[in-house]
Amino acid sequence: MEIIAPSNTYLRQKGIKASLQRVLIYEYLQKTTAHPSASKIFSDLHPTIPSLSRATVYNTLNLFVEKKIALPVQVEGSEARYDLCDPHHAHFHCVSCQTIFDIPIQEIAVPEPLRNFEVQESQVHYKGLCPQCR
Ligand SMILES: [Zn+2]
Ligand SMILES: [Zn+2]
Repeated sequence: MEIIAPSNTYLRQKGIKASLQRVLIYEYLQKTTAHPSASKIFSDLHPTIPSLSRATVYNTLNLFVEKKIALPVQVEGSEARYDLCDPHHAHFHCVSCQTIFDIPIQEIAVPEPLRNFEVQESQVHYKGLCPQCR
């Protein structure tokens, strides 16, 4: 059985200095299924952490992406939205209500034509209309 390390231990294992603000941003991402933008994270956390700045949220998200614990979910025409990489899953983006749904899938092996490439990221992304909007 896997032992879930506390967030600060997890961040340190990933080579990230676990400041309080980083831990709180990480835990916020763990708790939400909304795939929030940086602005949304900032406005939700700012009341509890008055010292938090927008720049810190952006820098922390960039660091999480660089260390591969989070990834930007690209939605055309809107601000990047963020999600944790684990567990591996696909996304369905509803183009009407803008909801991003998590779709559990098996991790896909790197396709044969890419064997000499260094794959740094892969995302499975569906878009269309969710059951409420179709
Ligand atoms: Zn929808
Ligand atoms: Zn997701």
